[in-house]
Amino acid sequence: MKKVGFYPGSFDPVTFGHLDIISRAAKLFDRLVVGVGIHHGKQALLNDETRISLLKSVIADLKIDESEIEVVTFDDLTVSAARSHGAQAIVRGLRDATDFDYEMQMFGTNHKMADDIDTIFLPASIETRFLAAKFVRQIAKMGGDITPFVPRIVADTIK
Ligand code: ADP
Repeated sequence: MKKVGFYPGSFDPVTFGHLDIISRAAKLFDRLVVGVGIHHGKQALLNDETRISLLKSVIADLKIDESEIEVVTFDDLTVSAARSHGAQAIVRGLRDATDFDYEMQMFGTNHKMADDIDTIFLPASIETRFLAAKFVRQIAKMGGDITPFVPRIVADTIK
């Protein structure tokens, strides 16, 4: 049986932190499905189409075999989306204790709803563990330079 992982997020915008998790998770699974959450009514910096197209473009630059990685959207429960894509596990990145507390609650809740879908945590890499999309959004809105945090195409698009 192929091992499939589901990595959900807002990716508003995709950062070097997300890409670090994607490239490492892709090595652990036969196939990685990256799920872009569509939250109707949630105030986002980038619209759904732009978040998806940027994600696809920066993932293509990682040069991972295309059959091994896929970008999808979802607006249902993460466990339902993971299951519908044939995933056995949800992948999440852990930066710090705040992520840990939140993610453990989320894991417990998801596990109660779907005990056939596990969660795999990957520790953030040292170089990117400070990075959070919410700060990138704030810096971008205030006209700051976001090139240290996101791939060039993302920075250019936001500009
Ligand atoms: P953020 O939390 O930065 O707003 P998302 O909501 O899109 O971004 O996060 C999706 C997933 O990516 C979560 O599991 C989050 O912990 C993880 N993640 C986000 N940024 C990083 C980072 N710099 N390093 C590792 N994981 C990260």
